[in-house]
Amino acid sequence: MRAIRRFTVRTVLPPRLAGLAELVMNLRWSWHPPTLELFAAIDPLVWRAVRGDPVRLLGEVPPSRLAELAADEGFLRRLDHALEDLHAYLTGDRWYQTTAVDGPRAVAYFSPEYGITSVLPQYSGGLGILAGDHLKTASDLGIPLIGVGLLYRRGYFNQSLSRDGWQQERYPPIDPYGLPLELLTEADGSPVSIAIQLPEQRTLQARVWQARVGRVPLLLLDSDVEGNAPAERDVTDRLYGGGTDHRFRQELLLGVGGVRAVRAFCRITGHPEPEVYHMNEGHAGFLALERISELMQDAGLSFDEALEVVRASTVFTTHTPVPAGIDRFPRDLIERHLVAETDGPARDGLHILPADRVLALGAEAYPGGDPGVFNMAVLGLRVASRANGVSTLHGAVSRHMFAGLWPNFDPDDVPITSVTNGVHVPTWLAGEMRTLLETELAGPAGVDGAGEGIRWADAERLDDVRLWQVRNALRARLVVEARARLRESWRTRGATDSEMQWIDDALDPQVLTIGFARRVPSYKRLTLMLRNPERLRALLLHPRHPVQIVIAGKAHPADDAGKRLIQEVVKFADDPEVRHRIVFLPDYDMALAQLLIAGADVWLNNPLRPLEACGTSGMKAALNGVLNLSIRDGWWDEWFDGNNGWAIPSADGLPDDRRDDLEAHALYDIIESQVAPRFYDRGSDGLPTRWLEMIRHAIASLGPKVAATRMLREYLDRLYTPAACAHRAVTADDFAGARHLAAWKARILQAWPGVRVEHVAASGLADALEYGTRVPVRAVVALGGLDPSDVDVQVVYGRVDENDELVTPRSASLRPTDARDGLFGYEGEIVLDRTGPFGYSVRVLPRDTLLGVSAELGLVALPPPRESITSGDLR
Ligand SMILES: *Cc1c(COP(=O)(O)O)cnc(C)c1O
Repeated sequence: MRAIRRFTVRTVLPPRLAGLAELVMNLRWSWHPPTLELFAAIDPLVWRAVRGDPVRLLGEVPPSRLAELAADEGFLRRLDHALEDLHAYLTGDRWYQTTAVDGPRAVAYFSPEYGITSVLPQYSGGLGILAGDHLKTASDLGIPLIGVGLLYRRGYFNQSLSRDGWQQERYPPIDPYGLPLELLTEADGSPVSIAIQLPEQRTLQARVWQARVGRVPLLLLDSDVEGNAPAERDVTDRLYGGGTDHRFRQELLLGVGGVRAVRAFCRITGHPEPEVYHMNEGHAGFLALERISELMQDAGLSFDEALEVVRASTVFTTHTPVPAGIDRFPRDLIERHLVAETDGPARDGLHILPADRVLALGAEAYPGGDPGVFNMAVLGLRVASRANGVSTLHGAVSRHMFAGLWPNFDPDDVPITSVTNGVHVPTWLAGEMRTLLETELAGPAGVDGAGEGIRWADAERLDDVRLWQVRNALRARLVVEARARLRESWRTRGATDSEMQWIDDALDPQVLTIGFARRVPSYKRLTLMLRNPERLRALLLHPRHPVQIVIAGKAHPADDAGKRLIQEVVKFADDPEVRHRIVFLPDYDMALAQLLIAGADVWLNNPLRPLEACGTSGMKAALNGVLNLSIRDGWWDEWFDGNNGWAIPSADGLPDDRRDDLEAHALYDIIESQVAPRFYDRGSDGLPTRWLEMIRHAIASLGPKVAATRMLREYLDRLYTPAACAHRAVTADDFAGARHLAAWKARILQAWPGVRVEHVAASGLADALEYGTRVPVRAVVALGGLDPSDVDVQVVYGRVDENDELVTPRSASLRPTDARDGLFGYEGEIVLDRTGPFGYSVRVLPRDTLLGVSAELGLVALPPPRESITSGDLR
């Protein structure tokens, strides 16, 4: 019989244990080993059974055990200590409070998914894990972030396999009352309700759950509320499910509802209002529309003035190098939702926005763009004056990919920078490794719970014996866990006990172990290793240098091609001849990732370059002394130094089939001739000296770079703090700066067709000049009625390629000298500071002290074609 109503009965803790509830409700436990140990001590068996979920733990521990603990002095002391530690962590000054200058009072960080712990399955892959690591690291550093996202009733699916290796999906419903979440409520205790007006007089309502991620509040909007009609209730039903309309409504709720939730949160708690808004990928782009509408209503700004405020204070991070990965909505969907219906009962604040202006923000107004489409990445770039990719290579790829938005600019000048991702060290450093690094690499102030204070460079001196012990222990734990998971998987697939006896000896704790785990989109090439099955078999079964491979990964539920790849791997791994050396473990999640990225010896990554924007699992591996074997894509392109792992040469540009062949063979060759021999090369003491040498160097060279504290500091210094300062500049004196900037831009746009470089000349030029020569440069420009203070006239110079294109040139401003008949003279000089082919040109850019980047308006005036420039001395 079906219950007519469900509710959750919460455990009543004995008063002396009340502090446990507080510990459980702050997710800091997910990266704080002493608190996790305390939870385990409550009941080790139940702790294992609930897979590390402390809310379930408290629900399932018998009251008699709780009564016993309430009288256990030793336990109570540990509990009090853990609570004191949490309070100190939450209230004391951290790095930001003592060091940061001019930083934002608060940053609102928007992301469609968050990977904080496997207990909260609100992530599908790298994007979510990155968001979780970002929040945790901000908390550790004391950076005042507010996270904003959605609470998916079904989260991401659990994966299992059918008998014949086909991915099966299960969506266990999530009960927010059974998770470490609290409802955001008004002072009178009633839940905060967010509402967005939809077409056809419908309303989308949501309540707001708050997760405490250490010091960082995370607000999750949930549309599963009684006031909603069924269709609206389902808006937050699952992560990345459903069609275009569904996805659009999720993004509307995330962006628009998210800003409204932040306002409610700040009003109720007194938290400072954000000065900076960070969009982790384009899904939250609608937040800009909500902010423009707020500023128009509350401050009486025009659309353009409000847009200046929003641009100054918004940071946009793009994560995908493939156009197909970007959200694009039909224009009419935007129109229907953002244009007021005259007969609607309650107008939404969004409806005051001029529809044409809104549509223009997401228009693909460049060659090849689709006029019927509203593009969320384009929106992101137009509403954020600061944008970045997630590795150096991805930054360059993004500048090319979006170059159409800045016609007349070289891709190198497209204003998209990059901040390479990082990983949260306390989350991803395995216990044994943490102990080793804390004891051997601690600086004078020790290592704090956030991993701060590890002297990574000293890893070069780590003791071989201890390091090898740790590596062996981590591999052994992986083998034990893998066997347990394999047994569970085979049981699900319908095997009997007698069919599963081989699993007792599956994998070998002494054998070189390669890990490969990630989502299964085609560009990550899960099956590249199967390209030549006979060669793979030979590597697995090598008589002296065998390797074993542990694989995991989920295919998107709608991606049958991905599921076929998984099936291919499973079929190969089912073969009795090799099944003890290659296994597929279902249900890749953070918990399994933690096991794999620490327990493998080698972390394999073979994406199609340059489609991996960054990749972070290899960073987690590196922290644990696991060596990367990877295509030079994403972060590995940047930080592979020849000795801290291996690079698989990539055959970019060749047809896919040929490329797969070449890259697979390179992979087999490296494993056979470099990786395996090095691993099995043992000294008389049994130690793989050269292997350990490489590990020490990998930790020393990569540790400080991959740590997310490095990433957060970069975001702060290069994006958040400048955005906060820009926000202050445009909002001061009743938005005088925003009003000025909007009016100035309008004036510049109108006058720009009259801006021309009339004349350029350099003195003493010859076909060959000596290194170090100073060459005076003079330019004459027409300004179309603008004032010289409105523009920056620059000389651009440096090496030229065979087509006379300047390659990564430098630029310097020229000085205004004279004005005659509406023409303005400028002078300066260039120094020929490199040998070889050299060239220069001149350009005019708009300039204003409030302008974020000079390419912002997309305007530049260049000299006429070369032929018409007079060379030689004009004076
Ligand atoms: C780190 C992580 C990822 C990201 O992996 P990539 O290297 O970016 O492919 C995906 N899923 C989980 C569970 C992770 O922990």
